[in-house]
Amino acid sequence: MTVSRIILIGPPGAGKGTQAARLAEHLGVPAISTGDIFRANVAERTELGQTAQRYMDAGEYVPDEVTNAMVADRLAAEDAAAGFLLDGYPRTEAQVGELDRMLGGAGVNLDKVVEITADVDELVARLLKRAIEQGRSDDTEDVIRRRQEVYADQTAPLVGLYEGRGLLVRVDGLGAIDEVTERLLGALD
Ligand code: AMP
Repeated sequence: MTVSRIILIGPPGAGKGTQAARLAEHLGVPAISTGDIFRANVAERTELGQTAQRYMDAGEYVPDEVTNAMVADRLAAEDAAAGFLLDGYPRTEAQVGELDRMLGGAGVNLDKVVEITADVDELVARLLKRAIEQGRSDDTEDVIRRRQEVYADQTAPLVGLYEGRGLLVRVDGLGAIDEVTERLLGALD
């Protein structure tokens, strides 16, 4: 079986973005990061960017309708027809339902959901370091803690949901970037 439609899920700071780019390249599918698309819209000062920024800066999720419409648009692009790796979507139960509808409409199924696990204290430390290095406006300490809370409340429950569907694999996100990539590739095999 070719594993080509994948969701990467995990708490903020677990290295999803870095690993998504590496895996996508390896698998020959696009990495679709909702956070990156929002940030690009913020940088270009689009209407979507202005809406998203308010939520992002507070560490809250952008409303489902806005996020779902953006993802539907992106998944309809030709390069996603044969597969994709979703990084940071879905993050709420409503988004899971909407993704199910999008894929059902296209007559395709998800192949795997990969949870990258990590210790919260370790993550907060990593994010504070990244805040200093990259100056992201959603990387202040209060916002970092809020993002972990929102993840625990709204996104962590999705792991059990996908586990129930028999799609879940768990991968330890701790360690060197190359090691984690190897683990992920092993888990997808
Ligand atoms: P990320 O780069 O994935 O950590 O995303 C950065 C921020 O973008 C998040 O803290 C949210 O404010 C917003 N965001 C990204 N993906 C989603 C999503 N699936 N649903 C709602 N908000 C999102």
